[in-house]
Amino acid sequence: MIPPRSTVEVDLGAITSNLAAAKELVSGADVMAVVKCDAYGHGATAVTQALDSAGVACFGVAFLEEALPLRAVAPETPILVFTEPAPGEEIAAIEAGLTPTIASPDGVARLAAAAHSAPLDVHLKIDTGLHRLGVAPEHAVAMALRAESMGLRVTGVWTHFATADDPGDPQLGVQRELFAATVERLRAAGVEPRQVHAANSSAALGDTGTHFTMVRLGAVLYGLRPGPSVPGLAGFRPAMSWRSGVVATQRVGEGERVGYGLRYRLETESTLAVVPVGFGDGLPRLAGNRGRVIVHGSRRPIAGAVGMSHVIVDCGDTTVRVGDEVILLGRDDAGTEITAEEIAQWSGTSVYEAVTRIAPGLPRRYP
Ligand code: PLP
Repeated sequence: MIPPRSTVEVDLGAITSNLAAAKELVSGADVMAVVKCDAYGHGATAVTQALDSAGVACFGVAFLEEALPLRAVAPETPILVFTEPAPGEEIAAIEAGLTPTIASPDGVARLAAAAHSAPLDVHLKIDTGLHRLGVAPEHAVAMALRAESMGLRVTGVWTHFATADDPGDPQLGVQRELFAATVERLRAAGVEPRQVHAANSSAALGDTGTHFTMVRLGAVLYGLRPGPSVPGLAGFRPAMSWRSGVVATQRVGEGERVGYGLRYRLETESTLAVVPVGFGDGLPRLAGNRGRVIVHGSRRPIAGAVGMSHVIVDCGDTTVRVGDEVILLGRDDAGTEITAEEIAQWSGTSVYEAVTRIAPGLPRRYP
């Protein structure tokens, strides 16, 4: 078999230990593990299996097609799909025992028709200010009552925050209070949701008032700090590392310029190492000249532009040979580290994009 040119390793023990730390942090609230987008690139099947054994109240994904393969992996645990089934998907969602979201009169009607009066648990999504998906608060009671009159069971009510990663923004408090008031009105109208949830990682870390009965955690489970302004993640460990190896080296003289566009200039004679990873694998193009990788225990600059399939690394006077390990993300045994947060900074993006853009085709290993 041809060995992979780079490998993503996922420490499932870090994910379950992050779950344990998160449970402490949200003491009392249930945890929904968000495993959408292939568990943020960590591999949804393995991650779901590990988290299911460790114990979560629920899994969350964006779309039906993400949920279906997880049913076999976590047969008993509820799986909430954050969006309504598209027309024609209702029966598949019901047969797989998924928990659909309802957010529109059309979605309610289609699910109720497909359920044929068999009990079907649904979660009602309320748009409290993100203005993406969900029913407006003033229509929430009518929609919930209509859904229940058509045989659906509104066992959950939820919303999603627009500014949770900016603790200084008052919008979170506005949405939280509007949500709490809407849940009160639902209860007063006789709707009794077992699960009430709003918080993602940032909200759960920053505002205990957002916990309600359940929090929906993605980033912190993977050991990712959701944003630069979010409080630190004491006790959380990043789960993902990404490694490759040197495929060529050359010694290049002082003053030479390197890579597409010749945008990196060598101040002194240097050993350049070529690594077979590029933006085609998900290493951001903007990490060129700004980014670092670890070679022989040192953080070394990515010299010049990131190519589609290769990068060049300035290794200075270090002796580097073909086959030597290169760490693109993660830490070595001595603790030298490249974090997803750094990759995000170099490339002007978020940790979410930094990990989910790593090509799904690269092998994920679970040592
Ligand atoms: N809830 C919803 C609806 C989401 O879409 C996501 C992730 O995108 C989350 C919760 C989890 O967010 P985080 O990774 O910040 O915890």
